[in-house]
Amino acid sequence: EAPLDVARLREEFPVLQRKVHGKALVYLDNAATSQTPQPVIDVFSDYYGRYNANIHRGLHTLADEATAAFEGTRKTVRGFLNAPDARQIIFTRGTTEAINLVANSWGRANLAPGDEVLVSMLEHHSNIVPWQLLAREIGFTLKVVPVDADGALDQVAYLELLNERTRLVAVNHVSNAFGTVNPVADMAVAAHRAGALILVDGAQAVPHQAVDVQAIDADFYAFSGHKVYGPTGVGVLYGKRELLEAMPPWQGGGEMIRTVSFDGSTFAEIPHKFEAGTPAIAEVIALGRALEWVQSIGLGAIGQWEQELLRQATRDISKIDGLRILGTAPHKAGVLSFVVDGAHSQDIGLLIDQLGVAIRTGHHCAQPLLNHFGVDATCRASFAAYNTREEVDIFIAALNRVIGMLR
Ligand code: PMP
Repeated sequence: EAPLDVARLREEFPVLQRKVHGKALVYLDNAATSQTPQPVIDVFSDYYGRYNANIHRGLHTLADEATAAFEGTRKTVRGFLNAPDARQIIFTRGTTEAINLVANSWGRANLAPGDEVLVSMLEHHSNIVPWQLLAREIGFTLKVVPVDADGALDQVAYLELLNERTRLVAVNHVSNAFGTVNPVADMAVAAHRAGALILVDGAQAVPHQAVDVQAIDADFYAFSGHKVYGPTGVGVLYGKRELLEAMPPWQGGGEMIRTVSFDGSTFAEIPHKFEAGTPAIAEVIALGRALEWVQSIGLGAIGQWEQELLRQATRDISKIDGLRILGTAPHKAGVLSFVVDGAHSQDIGLLIDQLGVAIRTGHHCAQPLLNHFGVDATCRASFAAYNTREEVDIFIAALNRVIGMLR
């Protein structure tokens, strides 16, 4: 793979041209949502301008074209994740809905009182709360894999927690709060040895590294379009075929049935069994375009560039007095989470925005993790392919200025 031509790549993102409070935008909130390149934006005017139609049922030309583009994206996602078969790709509204699908379909059918589900201290709320809701209903036990001081999962504790009652391990591939990359392939081996399944929340992984669900041997893998240069409102659940085929439907309605009568209904095969109702058609097609865009740039090159930016930012931010980085594990994605003595994260976020720099402040939907580290909020800068070394310099200078104002 060729190294990134960041200057050329930036030209594809119209939003990067805009100013905020009179300053050039420096967008470092990519872990929340990445920006969208023009080819992905173009999908929307093309779809609504030329072939907007409901999919799967129509016999007319527009419906055929929409269906072909929608189902074409399923094949694109199959290739992107190296799934064995496109039927194992379920379109959802995002990672959150994908996890809720597994909880409500697989979980409800397979979990019983006395069973254990293992989540980790690093989880986003979307991989905690669905399991809590179900645990309250069914009465299984939720257990938590602890983290080390550097924000890596404690793998010894993980192995000790696994036992014959463990039915599922639900863990993220990359932590959104700290950037920790978890050894999910190794964790899958251990989970399977214990007779458990593993669900991997890949929301923060797919934008930064090539993911192979077969190499990981994930039973379920979920991600969101809007974190990988695609639109909001669409995401993916990958599942092993025999699991998906055995799982009951979750939401009922059109598209997911074979026959309906008042004596009962029969259901469509996968993937349609899990796709009730009219989906976000343009969003799905745009997601396909985003994944093609990412692959044309190359995830190896993107990941390497983000690592360079992370090294530069970590080096320079470490010079700031009274600043503490949370999450210092050796294997990290381009996420820099920090707190500053004598300066509230919220104030830093508001003031640095005045200087054109967009970072995230708050609990990052990972309250248990932040509480464990004794804070209720951090500032988080997170990198994408289009960020530059100059932007890191502007960010660090702005941060120094803001801290000076607050102290
Ligand atoms: N998991 C992780 C690790 C995330 O970072 C996010 C988004 N911040 C989610 C899940 C939830 O994704 P979504 O809101 O797109 O459903």
